[in-house]
Formats: sequence, structure tokens, C-alpha cells
Amino acid sequence: MPPLFARLLVRLRKDFRLSIITVFGVCAVVAIAPFAALRFAQGQWLAGVVDALIVLGIVGPSIYAWRGGNLDRAGLCIAVTNTIGALLIVALLGRTGVYWLFPTLLANSFLIRPGIAGSLALGAVALTQLQPDAFESPGQRLTVTTTLLLVSLFAFIFAKRTAMQRSALEEIASLDPLTGARNRRAMEEEVAIALNAHQRTGRPVTLALLDLDHFKRVNDRHGHEAGDRLLCTFVELVRRSTRATDRLFRFGGEEFVLLMEHTDEIGAMRAFANLQRRIHEDLRAGGEPVTASMGAAVLRHGESRDAWFARADAALYRAKQNGRDRLVLDETAP
Ligand code: GH3
Ligand code: MG
Ligand code: MG
Repeated sequence: MPPLFARLLVRLRKDFRLSIITVFGVCAVVAIAPFAALRFAQGQWLAGVVDALIVLGIVGPSIYAWRGGNLDRAGLCIAVTNTIGALLIVALLGRTGVYWLFPTLLANSFLIRPGIAGSLALGAVALTQLQPDAFESPGQRLTVTTTLLLVSLFAFIFAKRTAMQRSALEEIASLDPLTGARNRRAMEEEVAIALNAHQRTGRPVTLALLDLDHFKRVNDRHGHEAGDRLLCTFVELVRRSTRATDRLFRFGGEEFVLLMEHTDEIGAMRAFANLQRRIHEDLRAGGEPVTASMGAAVLRHGESRDAWFARADAALYRAKQNGRDRLVLDETAP
């Protein structure tokens, strides 16, 4: 398979919303463009122009999405184009056009948030009532209106459930199953966000690596399960001893990362003194005290993720070398 094609497939597989937007882009070309051509051929110029505008209003945002544009915005553009297009088709073709509302409203629920899709659907159904030729009889009006509302309701419920399940899955995918701390994947995302925020606002942000001391000994003396329990207790203890905005991630094994936004050297030293006091008071394995070593670095302006981590890691190494159970804040000259 050519590498470009393989890369496109990977993006489609990874990104559900981009794949839905792509389906619309392709459908617009394959299913609506021939209608535009047919209308022009039949001399229905206005309907032809409307169809052509719908194709553009869908294909344009699809290309924008593929080029890395905001997916919310692209989805909203396509959904609004769909809806206005379907309403114009109803206005131009009357009762033949009304049936286009069904796929349109269903499609919208995949493209935008369920609440917005629901509101668009109600608006579209209400506007259809004002079209003089949309219905051939009061009976048909009742049937079409009721079925449109039901389709919209089912789509809303389905989209809401899917959104809830997706966010539950995202939550699970970002947590470490043993300790409930965020995992490495979540850490990379949040570190990138913190780096960007720092570049924009210049607010201080501190990264610390926390490593339990002689953890292997805990496993050896008290068993692996006691080691596991200690990891959970440690996570709970760090959570209780730090601010709600500080985020703890399990980096691997008995090593954790604490990301502290709006925290400079003085704030970090104060937070770690407090954390160390709580560790001395509460962290035990089989009745024996357990300590932790920490290496921290305050982000420098323009510094890369790797350089920042390397400084925190070197600081942790120094904490271990100098006797463990301590914090070393990197203060090396840039
Ligand atoms: P140091 O003070 O130098 O950090 O020594 P240490 O013993 O803490 O560090 P070392 O890297 O030598 O050993 C880490 C141990 O952590 C080895 C590994 O078996 C254990 N470990 C890693 N992940 C887990 C886990 O999920 N549960 C348990 N119980 N042990 C784990
Ligand atoms: Mg250790
Ligand atoms: Mg370690």
C-alpha cells in the first residue's frame, strides 16, 4: 500500500469524527453532485444551484478538517449546510423534497453535539410547517412531522449515549488501572498543553519526578501485593497533600510525575516540604516507614519537553545519590 494512503487510513481509523466528516464529503460528491447535474439538465436552475452550494458547503469543511482544522467548526458548518440545504430543497420541490429531511437530521447527530443537533432538528421541523407545499394533506403533515420528530429523538438518544460511552472510554484509557492515577498517555497530552500555556502566558509551571525509595525491598520483604497496595496508598496520599490543580501521573513502576501549574521554585519547595511531611507521617509498608525521592524543574522559557524532563530526571538522580528521602530542585545554569 502506498505510504500516503496508509497514513490517511491510520488517521481515519484513529479519528471517529474525521471519518464521519469524510463520509459526508464523499457522499456529497457521490450522492448530491449527480442531483445537481440532473437539476441543471432538467432546467431547474435554482434547485441545481442549491445542490451545488450544498456540495461546496460539505466538501469545503471536509477539506478544512483534513488539513488539521477544528473538527467542531467543520462539523457545525456541514450540519448547518445540510439543514439549510434540505429546507431549501423542501421550499423548491415541496413534498418530494421533504424526505431529504430524514437523512439530514440523522446525519447531523453524528456531526455535532447532541444538544445542538436536537435544536437544529426542532428548528428545521418547525420551519417545514411554514412551507406551503411541503405536505399534500393534514394526515400526511401529521405523519411526516411525527416521524421526523421521532427520528430526531432516537438520533438524539443514540448520540447522547455514544458521547457518554466515548467519554467513559477516554477516561478509562487515560488512567493507570492499578492506582487510578493518570497514565503516561494522559501525561504526554497534559504536559504538551502545559508547555503551550506557558509559552502563551509565561506563568510558571513545575514538573517533578517522584520515586519511592527502596521499593524493591518492600516487594521482597512483604510481597508484591503489599507493594501494589503501597503504590495505591502513595497516590492517595499525594492527591490529598497537593492542590486540586496539581496532576499526578504514573510514569512507570514506582515512579510518578507531578505536574504543578502556576508554581514557581518557592511554591514547589513549599508543596514538597508538605508532601514529605505527610509521607513521613503516613507512608508505611508492613509497619516500616517508606520514603520517596523527588527531582523537580521549573520550566524555562522556550524549553522543550525533553530538556525539561531531563533536568527533573537529573535532579531525581541527585536526590537518590545524596541519600534519598529528599527533594532536589534543579537550579543548574541554563
Ligand atoms: P531506589 O530507591 O533506587 O529507587 O530503589 P528501588 O528499589 O525503589 O528501585 P528499583 O528500580 O531498583 O526497583 C523498582 C521495583 O519496582 C522493581 C519492580 O519489580 C517494582 N515494580 C515495578 N512496578 C511494580 C508494580 O506495579 N507493583 C509492584 N508491587 N512492584 C512493581
Ligand atoms: Mg525507587
Ligand atoms: Mg524507579
